Amino acid sequence: MSEKTKKIKIGGVCVGGGESVKVQSMCTFKTSDVEKTVKQINLLKDAGCEIIRVSVLDKEDAAAIKSIKEKITIPLVADIHFSTELAIKAIENGADKVRVNPGNIGGESNIKRVADCIKAHNIPVRVGANTGSIEKEFLEKYGKNENSLVESALKSAAYFEKYGVSDIVISVKASDAPLTVNAYRLLSKRSDYPLHIGVTEAGTEQMAIVKSSAALGSLLLDGIGDTLRVSITGDPIKEIYAAKRLLRAVGLDKNFVNVISCPTCGRCQWNSMRLAEEVTAYTENINKPIKIAVMGCVVNGPGEAKDCDLGIAGAQDYCVIFKRGEIMKRVEANAASEEFFKEIKALINGC
Ligand code: SF4
Repeated sequence: MSEKTKKIKIGGVCVGGGESVKVQSMCTFKTSDVEKTVKQINLLKDAGCEIIRVSVLDKEDAAAIKSIKEKITIPLVADIHFSTELAIKAIENGADKVRVNPGNIGGESNIKRVADCIKAHNIPVRVGANTGSIEKEFLEKYGKNENSLVESALKSAAYFEKYGVSDIVISVKASDAPLTVNAYRLLSKRSDYPLHIGVTEAGTEQMAIVKSSAALGSLLLDGIGDTLRVSITGDPIKEIYAAKRLLRAVGLDKNFVNVISCPTCGRCQWNSMRLAEEVTAYTENINKPIKIAVMGCVVNGPGEAKDCDLGIAGAQDYCVIFKRGEIMKRVEANAASEEFFKEIKALINGC
């Protein structure tokens, strides 16, 4: 997203240099299980995943990349630790990017071999640090904080720069929001490489989403972050849903149906909560810039939702349907849902 970062290409997808923020996730099956991995990637892609990462633990995983690539349409990132041979094999088999830690692939000569292979195949590399992989020298110098994370990440990038690799993505992940935010803010001042942002080991669904929203939301609102992962312990499809909603919440994705609904209070005398849920579910996957309101009462509803394309507000035995704050019709409470959906469909089809 940041205009200041360098634009690079991961397969057919551009990242950095003012491009839209790209949503990533990671497969949970062993990569050598091609059938399950391909099925998962295609489900994630249909949900909105734009770049997918797979782990490469052994030569079967590295070999599988070739077959997987033939059956998917989004760029594939191979994540390799501790092995030059696997990194090279993954690249030769068609990985669109590799995620490696140059500090653990066996010294200078091996870093050079991986760098040469990256250049020969014209792909980028992601390097970085998380709180579990900060280099000892920086840990001793700074302790576990944003300085040690950033220095460690920049040192990883320098290993590859030394051998002529310039398409680099960097990450500095922590498992808590404040350190993640501080680290990326510092890194964005020190580097113009595109940044992959994320909170690592964020936890199970609900807390992970809150942590990631706090951290990544802050960064995105600052204009920091070119690609992101909302890391969740669970089905990765949840990561994609959360990432898409986060991009909508911070205003980076406007092409969706924004359903606003009041929390309700003692003034609400009809089941606006249920209708709000139904409208949200119905419009979830419609990519049109529309704003719809479901409000609890006629006293405040139409006024508060004046800027909505369409809205409904209820009283005890009737509801009013309004467009841009102007009341269009009054309907019986028991016909309200049906009437409102008719209007929603007409609005969506007319856009
Ligand atoms: S719109 Fe009406 S029902 Fe909803 S929170 Fe406001 S006052 Fe309460």
